[in-house]
Amino acid sequence: MKAAIVGGGILGTALAYRLTTEGVEVELYEAGRLGGGTSAVGAGWLNSGGKEPFAYHLLNVSGMAEYATLAREFGHAPWYHASGNLKWTTPDKTEQVRADAERLRSWGYPVELLSPKRVTEIEPYLKVPGDVTQVAYYPWEGLADLTQLTGVLAHAAAANGARIHTNTRVASLVTEGEQVTGLTLADGTAVDADVVAVCTGRWSDELVRTAGVGLPMAPSLGFNIYTGPAPVVLNAMVHTPDVNFRPDGSGRVMARTSEFDDAVPIDGAVDPVPDIGKEILARAVKYLPGLEGVAIEGARVAYRSIPGDDHPVVGEVPGRPGLYLLVTHSGGTMGPLFGRLSALEIAHGERDARLATFRPERIVTV
Ligand SMILES: Cc1cc2nc3c(=O)[nH]c(=O)nc-3n(C[C@H](O)[C@H](O)[C@H](O)COP(=O)(O)OP(=O)(O)OC[C@H]3O[C@@H](n4cnc5c(N)ncnc54)[C@H](O)[C@@H]3O)c2cc1C
Repeated sequence: MKAAIVGGGILGTALAYRLTTEGVEVELYEAGRLGGGTSAVGAGWLNSGGKEPFAYHLLNVSGMAEYATLAREFGHAPWYHASGNLKWTTPDKTEQVRADAERLRSWGYPVELLSPKRVTEIEPYLKVPGDVTQVAYYPWEGLADLTQLTGVLAHAAAANGARIHTNTRVASLVTEGEQVTGLTLADGTAVDADVVAVCTGRWSDELVRTAGVGLPMAPSLGFNIYTGPAPVVLNAMVHTPDVNFRPDGSGRVMARTSEFDDAVPIDGAVDPVPDIGKEILARAVKYLPGLEGVAIEGARVAYRSIPGDDHPVVGEVPGRPGLYLLVTHSGGTMGPLFGRLSALEIAHGERDARLATFRPERIVTV
């Protein structure tokens, strides 16, 4: 069997790797560089704390667990950090945090309510404000370095025989009757395939349109800043009422707040960094004083890859045999899982029950 994968983000590379381990011949086409799309900006927070309904929560929990499996498989996994997530709110929302924790525990998802003193034992460089009485700790959550992981997955896929074509844009899908039989590259080259897997993130609607398929998308912007190396040690993802931040390697910190997500409507690196960057850093300094005086190295913006009803679209498109869609938000959390489940389905026809409510038929038009 020959599979053509379009898109070299976390989803495309995870699928490429898993298909090769199932004996499928793989060609992957990426318009730019590996991991350079939304995966370059995603926070990589592996989580299921706020994911509803239960079927979606379960999928995300499975996605988090998949990282541990993948890390064991690779032996050395510098791209995976089983570091938990800490979250505190303003005092008026304390009851809400407690209620959320109870709901999650009833779903079998551990949440601990820690004292600020305990938090500073876990993360000594953090400063929790004096009016905070409890901090929610989500021990199963963690962090992934997505761009690095796309490289690792593509490298492993290539070692298994996959051919990875970067800087190679796919112009259109090719159909014969209802069947998708391949694709055409921007330079006019025709490529035949038994299955074409579209993993083009927020650009997916543009590509599937060339095969007469409608896929409603609802992309939204996200803006992050990245500091230079700071004299701090931070392990976990941290959510505060006015800024969220995570470690980004060598003492660097990535910080963001949804409040400013729409402020810079571009795609990619933001240069020069606008004043909102300084505001985000000032907020982070309150909770991580070691960031004081550290410069912002850069800022990046991306559109989230969100299907129109907020939920993943995974599977073959009814009415377009040969066309497989893998499009989701929270692709950091679920990328490796979706790669494995989709590979088993494409290679052997195994359909995982956890995907039942996330099939294309609920949302695509043909
Ligand atoms: C600010 C922000 C924060 C986020 N935080 C989190 C988080 O904490 N946790 C989490 O789980 N998720 C998070 N996400 C979402 C997550 O990052 C994405 O769901 C994930 O990266 C999507 O991966 P992808 O492979 O589908 O898409 P992408 O990484 O965008 O990859 C798609 C690739 O397809 C390529 N492409 C497009 N069209 C073509 C074509 N015609 N031919 C060839 N190649 C093409 C693009 O160049 C791109 O590289 C966040 C997203 C944003 C923006």
